Amino acid sequence: MWALRYDPEICRECPSPRCLLQCQYMEMGEEEARGEILKLSRGEDSRVLEKCMTCYGCEEYCPYGNHPYFLICEMREKRGIYTAPRPITNQWINMTQMQGRALIGKVGEVVLSSCLLPSLGTMASTGEIFSQISSSMVFGAEFMCPAVHTHFAKMSVVKERLPQVLDNFRKLGVKRVICLHDECYGTFTTLAKAYGIEVPFEPVYYMDFLLERLEELKPKITPLNITAVYQRPCSNRWIPEKQDVLRRILDLLGVRLLDRNHQGERSLCCGGILRLVGGYKLADEIQRRNIADMADTGADYCIFNCPACQETLGSKVAKAGLKPIHIIDLCKMALGEISQEEE
Ligand code: SF4
Ligand code: SF4
Repeated sequence: MWALRYDPEICRECPSPRCLLQCQYMEMGEEEARGEILKLSRGEDSRVLEKCMTCYGCEEYCPYGNHPYFLICEMREKRGIYTAPRPITNQWINMTQMQGRALIGKVGEVVLSSCLLPSLGTMASTGEIFSQISSSMVFGAEFMCPAVHTHFAKMSVVKERLPQVLDNFRKLGVKRVICLHDECYGTFTTLAKAYGIEVPFEPVYYMDFLLERLEELKPKITPLNITAVYQRPCSNRWIPEKQDVLRRILDLLGVRLLDRNHQGERSLCCGGILRLVGGYKLADEIQRRNIADMADTGADYCIFNCPACQETLGSKVAKAGLKPIHIIDLCKMALGEISQEEE
C-alpha cells in the first residue's frame, strides 16, 4: 500500500505553522496552531480532525511541501472521523466507480482527458483551439482523478484507484495527457508524488495548452475589453505555480482581472463540497461572502476554471450581476466562436 511522504521532523523544526495559521475555516493563534500540528505529527488527536473543511489550503500554505492536508485526511480515515454523512460518502464512491464504460476516442500519443465531467468534453469538442486533437479524447471513471475522495477522508479509495487510472492511461500508450480538469493535473503532479506513485506519461496543464494555442491563433483574437474576477478551485492549491498562466491568457484576450479580497491564498470554496462537509449554514455564509467580494469589484464576468465550481456558483454569481463563464469559453469568445450575448 502507498504511504504518504510526510516528515514529522520538518514540522518540529518549522519556524511558523503557516499551514494552520492561514486556515480560513479555523481561527488559531501561533501557539495553538503549532500545538495542533505537532499533535498531528505525533499521530495524536487534534480538533483539526473534527473541524477541517477540506479546502486543500494548507497544502499551499506549507512552504516545505510537507503535505499537512493529506496527513489530516489519512488520520481521519484511520480514526473513522469521516467528514460527511455516510450515504453521501458512499454515493461519491459508487458513482465514480469504474464500470468499463469509458468513452475513448481515436487516441493518439497526445490525449485530451475530460475526467468525469461531460461539460469539459463538450467544450473541447468544438472550436479551433482543440481542432487538431479533439478526436483524441477520453472520458469516464476509468480516467477520473480520484482526488475528490480526499474530501471524505477516503484515502484508501484514492490510493486504490489512482494507480488503476494511471494504468488505464498507460494501456492506451499515450505519451502526453492534456488534463482539462484542474484537479487531474494537480493529482498527477502533486498527489501522486506525495505518495511516490509513478505517472507513466507527461501530464499537461490545459491552461498551458490554451496559452500555446492562443499564441498560435493570435491574429484571430479580438480583444474582449472586459473586466473579470476569478473563482479559484480547491485543486489549484496543489499547483499554485500555475496561477500565472491564467493571467497570461487573460492578457492575450484583453480581459482585465480585478483584484479582490478572496483571491490567491485567500480564495474561498465554491460551496459545493463545503455544503456536504460543513453543512448548509456554513456553505451559504461562505458563498454569500465570496459573491459579495466579487460583486464589490463591479466586474463584468466571473471566470471559472473548474466546471463543478461553475455548476455550484454560476447561477448565484449571475444573480449578483456577473456573467459566469469557463476560461475555455472565454477563449472561444475572443476567437469569435461564441458571442458575448450567447454567454
Ligand atoms: S505542515 Fe508545513 S507549515 Fe505546517 S508546521 Fe509542518 S512544515 Fe510548518
Ligand atoms: S484543508 Fe483547509 S480547512 Fe482543512 S486544515 Fe487545511 S486550510 Fe484548514
